[in-house]
This record gives sequence, C-alpha cells and structure tokens, in this order.
Amino acid sequence: MSDKAQAGQKLRKIPGMDIVLGYDWIQEWLEELGKMRVKHIVNQKLSEIREKILTDDNAEFSPDTFRASCLHALAFASRPNLRRVINAAGVVIHTNLGRSLIAPDAVKSMTEAASYYSNLEYDLTQGSRGQRNSHIEDLLCTLTGAESSMIVNNNAGAVLLALSALAKDSEVIVSRGELVEIGGSFRIPDIMELSGAKLIEVGTTNRTHLRDYERAINENTSMLMKIHPSNFRIEGFTCSPERKELAALAHDKNIIFMEDAGSGLLVDGEMIHLPANSGEISIKSCLERGADLVTFSGDKMLGGPQIGGIVGRREIISKLKKYPLARALRVDKVTLSGFEATLRLYSQGMLDEIPTLRMLRRSDCDMKSQAEKLAGELSGKINAEVRVCEVEDAAGGGSCPEIKLSGWGVAIRHKTFGAGYVQKLLRELDTPVLTGAREDEIILHVRTLQEGDEEIIIHELEGVLNA
Ligand SMILES: *Cc1c(COP(=O)(O)O)cnc(C)c1O
Repeated sequence: MSDKAQAGQKLRKIPGMDIVLGYDWIQEWLEELGKMRVKHIVNQKLSEIREKILTDDNAEFSPDTFRASCLHALAFASRPNLRRVINAAGVVIHTNLGRSLIAPDAVKSMTEAASYYSNLEYDLTQGSRGQRNSHIEDLLCTLTGAESSMIVNNNAGAVLLALSALAKDSEVIVSRGELVEIGGSFRIPDIMELSGAKLIEVGTTNRTHLRDYERAINENTSMLMKIHPSNFRIEGFTCSPERKELAALAHDKNIIFMEDAGSGLLVDGEMIHLPANSGEISIKSCLERGADLVTFSGDKMLGGPQIGGIVGRREIISKLKKYPLARALRVDKVTLSGFEATLRLYSQGMLDEIPTLRMLRRSDCDMKSQAEKLAGELSGKINAEVRVCEVEDAAGGGSCPEIKLSGWGVAIRHKTFGAGYVQKLLRELDTPVLTGAREDEIILHVRTLQEGDEEIIIHELEGVLNA
C-alpha cells in the first residue's frame, strides 16, 4: 500500500464531530462549557491528529490519547483566565499580580455598589442630579490638606488629563533625571505628546539646578512638573532643587507647579516603616511644599482600588472637572465605593485593615513565627529539605524599589528537582504559587501570604514534590 493510501486508512479511524459529541465522557463538558466551546476545542484536537498522521508515518489515532488530550484541554478551558494566585514572592505591590489587595470593608462596599442601585450621581437632599466625585472629595481633601480633589481611572489618566487641560499647546519643563519609564509602559514623553503639551527637558540625568528651570521659562511656559522617580533611582552624584524652591519659582513666574507623586502616600513614610531616606513623602507634604496640583495612584502604597487621584488648588481642579477628557476617564461606581471605603479606614486610623499597609508594617517576630510554623508543617509532609531563613522583601510597584524590607521565609530544597523546575510546576497549578528562589532552593516569603494560602501551599507542595 502506498504511504498515501496508508494515511487515508488511518484518517478514516478518526471519529467525526457528531460521534465525539455523543461520547459519555464529553456530556458533562457540554453542560459546563456549552456546545460551541466544546466543539471548538474538539475540532482543534481533531485537526492536530489529522496533521500528525499526514506528517508522521508512525502516528496513529488512539482513542485513549484523544480522550485524555480533549479532557485536558476542556479542563484548561473551564478555569477562569484571570484567577487567584498565591504571592509567596514577598513583593507587596506587585504590578503583574494586581498591585494592592482591597480591604475587606472596601470589598463589602464594592459588592453593595455592584448589587444595588445607589446615589452615584443623585443628590438625595435636593432630589436632583448629583456629582459622582462628591462622594470622595471631602475625605480626600481632609486627608491631604487639599482645597479640592477628584479621581479618575488611574494615575496615567490623571497626568494626561492635567497636561491636556492645563498645558495643551504650551511648554512644560521637566528635569531629565525624572523622565523615566514606569513598568506597564507609562512614559512621560509619550503622555506629554498625546496631551499636546511640549516637553522641555532641563539639566542632566543626574544633576538639575534651579537655574536650569529658570532659564527655560518663557512666555509659552505653562507648567513646571516634578515626577516621582518611581522604580528608577540615580545613585551618587545627584542634585535637584527642593520642592519649595520650584514652587516659589513657578509662582513668581505665574505658572503651575505640578507633581506626579506616583505612589500616593496618605500617611508619613515612618507610619509604614519606610526609612527616613526613602525619598517617599506624603501627598500632604507635597502640597505643603507648594505644589499646585499632585497626582497619584490609588492601588500602590495607598492600598486601594485602581484610581488616579488629583488634589490641589480649587480653580485648577475645577478646570479639570469641566474638561471633556474627564468624562472619558471617570471611575466606575464599584471602584468609587471601594475607594471611599478605603479613605474612611484612613480617617479612622485603621491602617492595619488595609492589606498593603498591614503587609508593609509587619513585624519581624510575627513573620518569623509564621515562617517557623509553616516550615514545621511542611517538614513532616514533603520529601525535601526545609528550613526557615531571613529574606529580602520589597514594597514594589514602582514604590521604593531600592528599599528592601527584611522579612522571613521558608527555603525548600528538593533532592533532584532544581528550583526553576519546582517554580514552573507551582506556576501551573489551578491556584498558582509564585515563589522566590536562591540557588537550588525555592523560597516562600511569608510577608505576602494571605489567610488560607498556607493550607493550599502545603497541599500543593505535597502533590508536586512527593510525586
Ligand atoms: C505608577 C506611576 C504612574 C502610573 O500610574 P497608574 O496608576 O498605573 O496609571 C505614573 N507616574 C508615576 C511616577 C508612577 O509611579
């Protein structure tokens, strides 16, 4: 028989779609995923087999292999794409893992806002249309000492709105040392271009003096802008003017001094155990030092949902509120209620109710005893060397990356599996576990573990390492 005839004979053994959809093992998946998705997946598997038979003389249709590969693909398709992971990497504000976790009180508000009608844009006293921003304005002003405030979708949006509304067709002066790219493709020069403002760079990467700003100011200048260095820091021989000097210069020339504060601290750095030299100052301090306008993220150090905050002088904010782009960047009701609830926790001083702050503030002895307990439970159960160790954690999220937080963890060394391989197995679980690694050990950082995570970790490590 020719190769072609042989392949034809093998191809005829492949069942048609109607036959496959009649198999017992597929019935539950028809219910779970719906006929359209099941057909799509089965079709892919059938084409793969046809392709294989046509290209590989040794390939044959095997009902068992076909069933196993379909079941695997169907199970894979039934998992939510966006799902919970366990952060055992010790990076508190991990942009790739969703930045801040939301406080339970805020989650409650968000669920309520999502499930019921609300006074989102309805003034209950007047019985007429209200402002969605009104729900957070006073709280945010009280916490930052600002005259006026508003929120938009995120900080990138806040910066775009401010530049578009205030600096379109005019010049904005920025120090070269602050023109950085922030994870997630936020680049000031690009945002500036989009807004129609003209970027004027002054100084050098490591040194910018007040006179550099002063020389660059002309009748087309609308703004001096300061940008938080975020996940980037130039070390050593550096210099840049104090905020107070920049503010005085801007006001003397009748232009705006705006700061993109990036992370957005609502409390002093010491309150969340940041060292005094961290360079992080609160939004309140930025305003006290003379900024007319400050923008910041809601889901970094602030520990709330994703928003962009804008605080500052009343007449400036009122311009922003009226600018049409504000409508395109407005926050949704669920986020708004979560942000309000988070601000209320700040007002009440309940910082440990805010997961990001609680994790940043965790004490050494608390983390050490957690690591010891986890190591104890793991040692009896898994087939590997387990020990408690000191680790370096990080705030992350473009906030104080150079500030390492000292923490505790559990190091695990398998007799034959390398750390990279174990990490890969852990990433592929239904609830993926992301860990640190050091040479041939994986490291579970306890700082970022949430309630219930340990149980899953123990169970999954048993499966992965004892197999
Ligand atoms: C993170 C960051 C941004 C972007 O904020 P998003 O809330 O992610 O849009 C902008 N500027 C600075 C300085 C940042 O650190």
